[in-house]
Formats: sequence, C-alpha cells, structure tokens
Amino acid sequence: MSVFRHIGKSILLKHNQSALTLQASFIHKSHSVKSKNDYLIDTPEYDFLKDIGIERENFGVYNGSWQGSGEVITSIDPGTGRKIANIRMGSVQEMDEAIQIGVKAYEQWSQVPAPVRGDVIRQIGEEMRKYKEPLGKLVSLEVGKIHSEGQGEVQEFIDICDYAAGLSRIYSGQVINSERPEHIILEAWRPLGLVGVISAYNFPNAVFGWNAAIALTTGNSVLWKGAPTTSLVSVATMKVLAEVLNRNKLPPIATLCQGGANVGQQLVSDARVKLVSFTGSCATGRNVGVEVQKRFGKVILELGGNNALIVDQDANFQMVLEAALFGCIGTSGQRCTTTRRIIVHEKLYDRLVKELVAKYKQVYNSLFLIFSLVMNQLNSVYFILQVLPKVGHQLDPNTLVGPVHSQQNIEHYKAAIAEAVKLGGKIAFGGKVIQSDGFYTEPTIITDLPHDSPVVHRETFAPIVYVLKAKSIEQTIAWNNEVDQGLSSAIFTENISNAFKWIGPQGSDCGIVNINTTTNGAEIGGAFGGEKHTGGGRESGSDAWKQYCKRSTITLNHSGKLACAQGVVFNVE
Ligand code: NAD
Repeated sequence: MSVFRHIGKSILLKHNQSALTLQASFIHKSHSVKSKNDYLIDTPEYDFLKDIGIERENFGVYNGSWQGSGEVITSIDPGTGRKIANIRMGSVQEMDEAIQIGVKAYEQWSQVPAPVRGDVIRQIGEEMRKYKEPLGKLVSLEVGKIHSEGQGEVQEFIDICDYAAGLSRIYSGQVINSERPEHIILEAWRPLGLVGVISAYNFPNAVFGWNAAIALTTGNSVLWKGAPTTSLVSVATMKVLAEVLNRNKLPPIATLCQGGANVGQQLVSDARVKLVSFTGSCATGRNVGVEVQKRFGKVILELGGNNALIVDQDANFQMVLEAALFGCIGTSGQRCTTTRRIIVHEKLYDRLVKELVAKYKQVYNSLFLIFSLVMNQLNSVYFILQVLPKVGHQLDPNTLVGPVHSQQNIEHYKAAIAEAVKLGGKIAFGGKVIQSDGFYTEPTIITDLPHDSPVVHRETFAPIVYVLKAKSIEQTIAWNNEVDQGLSSAIFTENISNAFKWIGPQGSDCGIVNINTTTNGAEIGGAFGGEKHTGGGRESGSDAWKQYCKRSTITLNHSGKLACAQGVVFNVE
C-alpha cells in the first residue's frame, strides 16, 4: 500500500556490497515502484493532500480569492524525486495588487478591538489543530524533514496562536511621570499597516505562523511570499487561514503571493509594506535589508547561523552525545540553528570523536552492525538480512535522517567536503552523496581543520559538522564568537563559573545562548533570532511583538495652561 512499506523487509544482499551502498540502493528501490511521471497527488496513499485542499493544479495567489498568472512550477518530493503537484505562481503585478488589497484590509482590521482580533487568531490555531496531521505530513513531504519534525512545525504554529490570543488581552504601553505639573506621559503601541513576510524553504509553515499570529493580533494585515519550492505548504496553510477569515466575514487581512526573487523584490521595495520580515540566507537578507532601509521601511532579518556546541571538560558526556546527534543531523542539517561546529576541550576530544562516530553508525545504518556480524559468521555469496534503516524517506516512521531538500543542497555538501579535505580536514564519518532518486547525503563528521578555515566559517546547509579541539573555556568562547553569524550556541558544563562566563558580557555573542541543551529546537515563548550577520531580528515570544508596532509617546496636559518642557519660557504678552 504505502511506498514507505519497505521497513523491516528482508532483502538479498551481495557479499561484497558495502553497507552504505546497500542502504542507498534500498532507498532507490523502495521508491521506484511507480513511474516518475505519476504525480503523488494522484495515488491513493497521498489522499491526505486532498484533505488539506491540495489538488493536481493549484493557484499560488490568495487575495480574497485564489488565482495565479505566473509560471507553473512542479513541487518535488526530495525523498524520491517524484512530482507531488503543480502550482501556478503569482506575477509581479499580482504582488502589486495583493499589496493594495492588504493595505485596504488593514484599515478595517486595525479598528477591531485587540481581544476580538485575538479571538480570530485563536480560531486559526484551532483550525490548525484540526489539520495538524495532514499539514505536518505535507511539510515533511515537501521539505524532506521527518514525520515528527513536520508535526512539530505545525505545533509551533498552533502554539504561537495560543500565545497571540493571550497577548491580545495583555500587550500594553505604560504611564510615565511628567516633569510638568498636571501632565502625564502615555506610551501606546499601534499597528504599522501591511506587514510583508518572506520565508525560507526549511520552515515553510511555522515562520509564517510566528509572524502572522503576532502581526495580526497587533492590528496589522499580512502578505506572505513563501519559498517557491515549498509552495504547496504555503497554499495549504493559507487555505486554513482563509477558512477562518471567511467564517468571520473578514476582509483578506492575510494574503499570499507565491513567486521567485522578482516577486519578492516587489514586496521588499514597495513603501506601502511597512515592515518586511525576511527569513533566509545572509546573502539575500543583506540585500533585502538595504532595500528596505533605502525607503526607511522597517525590517526583521532572520538569517543564517553557524552554531557551535561547546563541550567543557566536566560536561555531562551522555547528554553531549545526544545533543550533538540531534543538533548536527536532525532535519538533515537544515535548521538555521543546526550544530555546525563542536568545540571540545582537548581532554575529551578523542573520546567525543570516537563515540559520536559510533552513534552516527547506529543511526546511519543499523544494517551495518548486523551486516558485520553476519559477515563474520557466513561465507556464502548471498544471505538474508533484516533491514531497519534510519536514513531514509522522510515519511517512513523509522527514519531519523531524511533527504536534503534539493540538488542545490547536494552541490553545497559536495563543495564543502571537497574544500574541507583540501584544507587538511579528515572525514571521521560519511562524506559521500548517496546514489538514489532522492537527495540523500551521508551525515558527516570532519576533524583536524583549523578553527578559522573558510569552510568552517561558512554555513553549509547540509548535515556536516566540524569538530575542533580547544584548550580552555576562554578559547572556546573566542572561537564561538569569531564567525560572522550570531544565531545559536550552547555550552555543556557542570562548572558554574564557566556557565556564568558563557552568559556574561564577554561570553557567547549569539542571540541564543544555551546551557546544557541543544543549539536547535527553540520554544515559541522566547524571542527568536540572532546577532551580526544573522540580522539582529527577533520573532515569536517575549516582547518581539513590539517590532510589529509603532510606539507613540503621548504627552497629555490637563492643567489648562501651556508649559514648555525643561522650564523654557517662550511667550509674548
Ligand atoms: P534564500 O535566501 O535562498 O530564500 C529565502 C526566501 O527569499 C525565499 O522565499 C526566496 O524566494 C526569497 N528571495 C530570494 N531572492 C530574493 C530577493 N532578491 N528579494 C526578495 N526575496 C528573495 O534561503 P533558503 O535557501 O530558502 O533558506 C535557507 C537559509 O535560511 C539558511 O541560510 C538558513 O540559515 C536561513 N534560515 C534562517 C532562519 C532564522 O530564523 N534565522 C530560519 C530558517 C532559515
């Protein structure tokens, strides 16, 4: 029935095949059952796509009704290379029209009382709950992330809606003492207008949720352009919102215009878009930031990371291994908060490399262990093995590491490994592309590179980690901070003095500064974002809502007489 039914099947293995090749051919074999020309949407096991409003042909623009007059693109399952469905993108002109519609919707929406707005966001969260399973599955299918991560992503959308519903009743300004008699100073937070959201492929649902929930609650309208390669998630997500807006007879306060860079540029350069919240690479984000600044618009930049996990000499070693495993290869190394560098005290370096490699082997191929065992005992050419792969299709319930998103990720992976080897790096595990119809890479550990190699300082969006040997806490902090990016960081230590150094003024210079937990997997309650080339933006919890508002300082004179500040006398009789 399901194409993921290969789990636990018995297969014939050739004596001289390596375990890694076997794994690869298995991925290939299990997904080549149907013709590559078939669309997954047309096969019964993908009926869940229809439950969330996806059809074979979809429009990529929603501005109160569905349309699209740009190019047609085909969404691909990165786990098999097979087509999922088609989407007709928006054009630059449709983006322009969506901006106009969004501005108009704002005029009405901003006058709705905040707690009433919050109730609409609560309903959006409820609707998301209803569709969590199929929507999360689509996130997995289109991005390549595993089932629990797809579900977890939609859960973040739900959580931020709950948060925003509460926020709508409590966000407030303050009353400030005036230096003038019978005066009072008030501070009020008012909506900005139309907020543009541009998101990256790796979080195609939650990033829009973080922005939309808070922006709408604070009285703004929202116009979204998701990544082109995850357009189906954009369409399905917007259908959930559209249902709630229609039920409440609201104008299109949330709109969508899918498209490429030119459609995004239209959003970025238009002065009617008061805030652009951009999530993506540092290179694109830098240009977006400059463009928005040129017109004195507001911008939230959530850009790339180069996140380090620091292992202090008295760290809880078991926890380190578990954190490194999830941090480095979770989401196949495609989170902005993925652990890209492990900076480990020299006393623990050899042990860490050895035990992390052993853990990778366990994940990468339980087959490997069984294979070695059987090889020792049998001498025949063929024999039967039980296969339990943990690298495999993203929707397979046993998979821990799915594919990377596209051929582009594969190219970046190959280039980084070639460069690392050229610079003297040693591959302790992995290092190769897995030959299959999908986009699979071996999770990779590289040692022996200088801490400041260009490849170590670059974010490669693939499951590669560089392990670096350091002498002291001071050195680990210096290395943590020497990269351009400043998103996430984590130290594992039981030493309270080092923990306080880490969070102190000369400690980690990142936006996320964890102790004894992973670099990845943040909660919605805190403000999310990073410093330096990561862009400085903050989204989600804490007081990140302030970024979606303009602050007004209101001096109110109830004395009946005019008095200037600072005692200035300025009058004519
Ligand atoms: P990307 O920069 O290639 O694309 C991001 C978005 O920008 C897409 O929607 C794309 O269509 C759009 N875009 C491209 N050119 C544009 C232009 N000139 N004007 C306006 N929009 C344009 O990024 P990606 O490959 O989709 O995502 C991976 C990157 O995103 C990584 O660097 C990752 O670290 C980063 N990221 C950061 C965070 C965070 O919160 N800090 C979260 C997720 C991803």
